Amino acid sequence: MSLPADKEVSFRESVNLSFDMAMGTLDIPEGISKYIRNVNNVYQVRFPVKIKGEIETFIGWRAVHSDHRLPAKGGIRFAPNVNQDEVEALAALMSYKCALVDVPFGGSKGGLLIDPKKYERDEMESITRRFAYELIQKDYISSSTNVPAPDMGTGQREMAWIVSTYASHRPGDINHLACVTGKPVSMGGIQGRVEATGRGVVFGLREFFRHPEDVKNAKLEGNSLEDKTVIIQGLGNVGYYTASILQDEDRAKIIAILEWDGGLYDPNGIDIQDVYQYKIGNKGGVKGYTKAQYFEDGKVLLEKECDILIPAAMEAVINRTNAANIQAKVIAEAANGPVTFAAESLLKEKGTVIIPDVYLNAGGVTVSYFEWIKNLSHIRFGRMQRRYEESQSELIIKAIEQTGNKLPQELIEKLSQGASELDLVRSGLDDTMRKAFQEISERFWSNDKITNYRTAAMALAIEKIYTGYRTMGIYP
Ligand code: GLU
Repeated sequence: MSLPADKEVSFRESVNLSFDMAMGTLDIPEGISKYIRNVNNVYQVRFPVKIKGEIETFIGWRAVHSDHRLPAKGGIRFAPNVNQDEVEALAALMSYKCALVDVPFGGSKGGLLIDPKKYERDEMESITRRFAYELIQKDYISSSTNVPAPDMGTGQREMAWIVSTYASHRPGDINHLACVTGKPVSMGGIQGRVEATGRGVVFGLREFFRHPEDVKNAKLEGNSLEDKTVIIQGLGNVGYYTASILQDEDRAKIIAILEWDGGLYDPNGIDIQDVYQYKIGNKGGVKGYTKAQYFEDGKVLLEKECDILIPAAMEAVINRTNAANIQAKVIAEAANGPVTFAAESLLKEKGTVIIPDVYLNAGGVTVSYFEWIKNLSHIRFGRMQRRYEESQSELIIKAIEQTGNKLPQELIEKLSQGASELDLVRSGLDDTMRKAFQEISERFWSNDKITNYRTAAMALAIEKIYTGYRTMGIYP
């Protein structure tokens, strides 16, 4: 299949083209593939809210791409440029993402056309609650059929407002906390959800480095992230956690950071915590930070030499205009859709390896799945077994010591700690990311028709969705 490198296509077309490329490697009947490819339904709503005494009308969407598993799952985005096409593309990506990492959900996504920066906190609360109410009325938010989560422009605060609105409109739903994920822990959220997407990106990269063939294919060396040079585009939630874990736990070197008001560059490494603290006190920008070289046009930093380029903010940052100049060996897609289809085709010619969004940023929805299970079971993970595990470990330590052997204190401390909720969440996330990459790599190397990880990942996802629909009985 030829790739349209000469023109850009829309985000939705781009997702569909990736789908078609994967379909070309599978033996699935055309009728069902057409059904899987398209969004099942999309709800568009306009609603009024009184802001400073005046009525303002807002427009929003919630799309369900697939419902072979329920609930359908995916974030709600608040952004000044969101549109139906984008919401549909993101809903489709959610289906593929969930299927790929064996999270038993369908795919959905929501968007509200708004610039959150222009509104006060109380105004945002009224708007969010009203939007949630509209979606609840049409069952586009429900603990059993459609469960939103944070995305660009939304976070724990918005999720808390949504769950509270839902609870007041569905007082009989004993599982009301499960109507949305990404909530504050004090409102039924789970430990580790805020960092989940970023930590998932790091778990994915670590697994990549455990596969020598894949590392070699990317013209990289070694079996770890230590000293690898990294460029991060976007220091929001995903970018921040990815970068700080890479720096603190893996000793990778972050040499450039791109933000909306410019970029920072230091080939010797930039201190992420320091920049992040600076950003908080500087309206979210990096301009004025003096401990690294500042670039007014941050985008030029995408083209600097590095091992791993991590776009972690918006769509289409790597496109026809800059793809040929990218020097990174690996592009790790922490954001959704950061590389356009045309750019991917140009990068392929250069041999740049892309670890695709559909896999790499699945950590968010994976931990959302854990949160949803926690909400349905009405109990925190580890509550029943933690102290029991600890007492069992103490018994083992005692037994060893009775044989006359003395264990080092450090080991005793480690051994005698039962797993906390955070430990279990991280362990489940690690396992999910490892297993999915193993499957992708296996498919990539074993099928001659597959020439990149995106196609391998999409093929695996489509197969799983197909099996879901087939066993459900839609396809005899
Ligand atoms: N918005 C995130 C994503 O794009 C998380 C979705 C979720 O947790 O449902 O994957």
